[in-house]
Amino acid sequence: MTSDVIIVGAGASGLTAAIFAARRGVTVKILEHKEKAGKKLLLTGNGKCNLSNQNIDPGLYRGAEPSFVVPVLHAYSKERTLAFFREIGVPVRERNGYLYPQNEEAAGVVQALLSECRKYKVSIDYEIGIKKILPQKEGFLFETKQGNYLSKSCILATGGCSYKETGSDGSGFLYLDALHHTAQDIAPSLVQLKAKASFLKEIAGIRADTRLHLYVEDERVASESGELQLTDYGVSGIAVFQLSRYAAVALKEEKKVTLVIDFLPKSGDADAVTDMYARLCHDHPSMLSVLLAGSIHRKLIPVILQESQVIDKCAADVTLEEVRRIVQTLKFFSLQINGTKKLNDAQVTAGGVNTTEVSAETLASKHTPGLFFCGEMLDVDGPCGGYNLQWAWSSGMCAGEHAAEYSLQ
Ligand SMILES: Cc1cc2nc3c(=O)[nH]c(=O)nc-3n(C[C@H](O)[C@H](O)[C@H](O)COP(=O)(O)OP(=O)(O)OC[C@H]3O[C@@H](n4cnc5c(N)ncnc54)[C@H](O)[C@@H]3O)c2cc1C
Repeated sequence: MTSDVIIVGAGASGLTAAIFAARRGVTVKILEHKEKAGKKLLLTGNGKCNLSNQNIDPGLYRGAEPSFVVPVLHAYSKERTLAFFREIGVPVRERNGYLYPQNEEAAGVVQALLSECRKYKVSIDYEIGIKKILPQKEGFLFETKQGNYLSKSCILATGGCSYKETGSDGSGFLYLDALHHTAQDIAPSLVQLKAKASFLKEIAGIRADTRLHLYVEDERVASESGELQLTDYGVSGIAVFQLSRYAAVALKEEKKVTLVIDFLPKSGDADAVTDMYARLCHDHPSMLSVLLAGSIHRKLIPVILQESQVIDKCAADVTLEEVRRIVQTLKFFSLQINGTKKLNDAQVTAGGVNTTEVSAETLASKHTPGLFFCGEMLDVDGPCGGYNLQWAWSSGMCAGEHAAEYSLQ
């Protein structure tokens, strides 16, 4: 069972790598340990597959070496990706900068990729249990429970370590030692944050338009705007997901992590909000809580008053100092973050194969000739909004073409 290129993993990056290798005229086989291809891809964008973003800014990707993505995203750009999808029958539409297939069906994307694989005679062997991948004098030996395979080049495309039921269970990292590679520590990214505060049960279920700032020790490391979802365990929502990788990495290093929430991001700075409330209080005959109900969720009011140490009373009796304390709480609500939801609940894995050991131009190993990497397995993670799939497509195209070239030498 010899092929020019063997790819481990039939996910987003592996299928793309297979097509781009096979289009160069080499024989390609994919070894997949699940019973079908693209199981994680089917879940993306709530089944609609947010496959890229109008603004793919390489500066938004993270990892120990954030600029690693630049050459690949330049050579295998979003434009090239969209042209590829058009060619295989997946026209793309935009919604608020997010790019989806026209029919908004992830299943259609998987079908189109598989159909292109068939066209170029890529063979996929499912339910293959790989025990070892060993570099040979020329090429690679794959020892599997189903027998041995040989190839001239190998692409590892086994994904991250979350949503294990989809197949990306971290087992790909076990092959690294024999291939002379190492991995950066793994942490969850795009995940909910946990906090411990007695008031969380009272305010669970509230959704609020906020500006969020994440502090590690006393340094602000990132900020995001968007809808915050308060839950009984902590906080969720896209803005929280975007901040989560910084929190996860800092918590792993046992650092103090604080989320500072601005519940009135569109009402100006603290002075402007203080003026507004002071004026309203001055000529308002009703209770303070009634007045606050005009701008914040009613379930949040008792918590804000308690945290500000102000009792509910007639608004006209509220002092300027009390107004200042309320505004301070509303604009700088501080929540101590003490964990994230589990790695398995994360949409993306931060960490992975050390990029210093991989060529940023070809995605070839610097240690083992003929070995290539692509997708989430590498120490690269992007924000929410199509960035992670764009990395899967771009790195898959790059690894596929270069692995084929290597096999043709
Ligand atoms: C719920 C959810 C929603 C998401 N939504 C989006 C979105 O809308 N937009 C976006 O950009 N990103 C999204 N992502 C992230 C995106 O899905 C991943 O970044 C992307 O799928 C990574 O592609 P990959 O090819 O590296 O890995 P995967 O797609 O995970 O594929 C890895 C493949 O390798 C196989 N494999 C693993 N180990 C082995 C082994 N030892 N032997 C053989 N086969 C193996 C797996 O079974 C799998 O088929 C989402 C993720 C989740 C979990």
